[in-house]
Amino acid sequence: MRFTVPNSSEALLRELRVSQALARVRQLPTVSVANPLLAITIAVVYWDKVFRTLLVLFVATMIVLWTPAFLSWRRLRNKARPARVSAGNERRAMIFSGSAGVLWALACFVLYPAGGPDERATLVMLMAGLCSGSVSFFSSSPKASMAFFLPFMLVLLGQALTFIESSPVLPAAIAVFIASALWFTETSWSQFVESVRVLVDRDRLLQEAKASGHQLELMLSRMSDLAMVDELTGLKNRRSFFDDIDPVIAGSRRRGNPVAIALLDLDHFKDVNDTHGHGVGDDTLREVARRIEDTLRQEQIVGRLGGEEFVVLLPDTTPQQALVAIERVRKAVGDTAIPVTGGGEVWMSVSGGIAPLLDGMVVAVAIQHADKAMYRAKALGRNRVEVFGAVEEAIR
Ligand code: GH3
Ligand code: MG
Ligand code: MG
Repeated sequence: MRFTVPNSSEALLRELRVSQALARVRQLPTVSVANPLLAITIAVVYWDKVFRTLLVLFVATMIVLWTPAFLSWRRLRNKARPARVSAGNERRAMIFSGSAGVLWALACFVLYPAGGPDERATLVMLMAGLCSGSVSFFSSSPKASMAFFLPFMLVLLGQALTFIESSPVLPAAIAVFIASALWFTETSWSQFVESVRVLVDRDRLLQEAKASGHQLELMLSRMSDLAMVDELTGLKNRRSFFDDIDPVIAGSRRRGNPVAIALLDLDHFKDVNDTHGHGVGDDTLREVARRIEDTLRQEQIVGRLGGEEFVVLLPDTTPQQALVAIERVRKAVGDTAIPVTGGGEVWMSVSGGIAPLLDGMVVAVAIQHADKAMYRAKALGRNRVEVFGAVEEAIR
């Protein structure tokens, strides 16, 4: 018989041990009354066969031994559920059940030979009852159970074998009873182990479900990030740019302030790809995006419209103020060379177009205007920023 619990989750096993220990505490009144009561019954049966002082002493010892158990039930029943059953606690239970078992063994050793066939049969019957009670009481502690019943059952068997001539059936009956008690101990232990296994499986499944739920959440959040962010530059993509500007425009309008839109397009960017390859082109785009974002203020929203074209929404900004801001961007992009992986550098410049987003104007129209201004910047030699149409005339 191997009384170990396989691959369990520690917390669950602890919980299960606590509930088993609590179940034992609940049964303490029954067993702490049953043991002395059995002792009294035996004393009555043997009243004329043995020294009565001895019988009284035996009953008294039983009462003294089991009273603390009864008292500990009164103490423990109102206490909060403990977090764990300590090893010391298990050991004490073991020592207690072992001592009680030895006491019963002593009694059997003395009483069995002292009685006639009737008394012996009664003794065996009562002890068999005690033995079965112990198996069910200690269902989760088979060692404590055996420490209790094996001493007196084995003594009983030994004595019965000594008196085999006068009571021939009893040794066989006792042997069968011991065997079945051991078998029941083993079966109730397997049931305990099985319930641990079921709980552990459930625990594992729950954890797995939680983990995959978490992964799904991560995936969803990554997918929604991907839908919002331009993968190459980390800027907002076209869609999320247009999603995000509405409240910013509305805020500006509420404050009664103007809004400007700017388009930026890299100059001769195709040459970078053609000369250095697409990889360097990508690096350049990333660096340009970083410079644009670093130069602008937090509330000015940047997006990558596609290719090497960027869009900026500038709230609370007149076209003239926008010109100042986008000029800063133009310088940030063009004034220092962009180092290229594998050595060398690339000089970039950018052309920009600015248009006001007038009251009641659709964003797409303002962008068209900014585009026109930007193409004028290209036409006028690139690396410059132009403001759209009439507004331009007014501020220049
Ligand atoms: P211009 O000054 O007239 O704007 O000249 P340009 O060469 O910049 O203009 P054009 O629109 O002809 O070329 C843009 C190039 O940008 C073409 C395309 O191969 C390249 N491009 C677009 N998207 C990407 C990208 O994500 N990575 C890289 N490496 N190149 C890109
Ligand atoms: Mg270009
Ligand atoms: Mg372009």
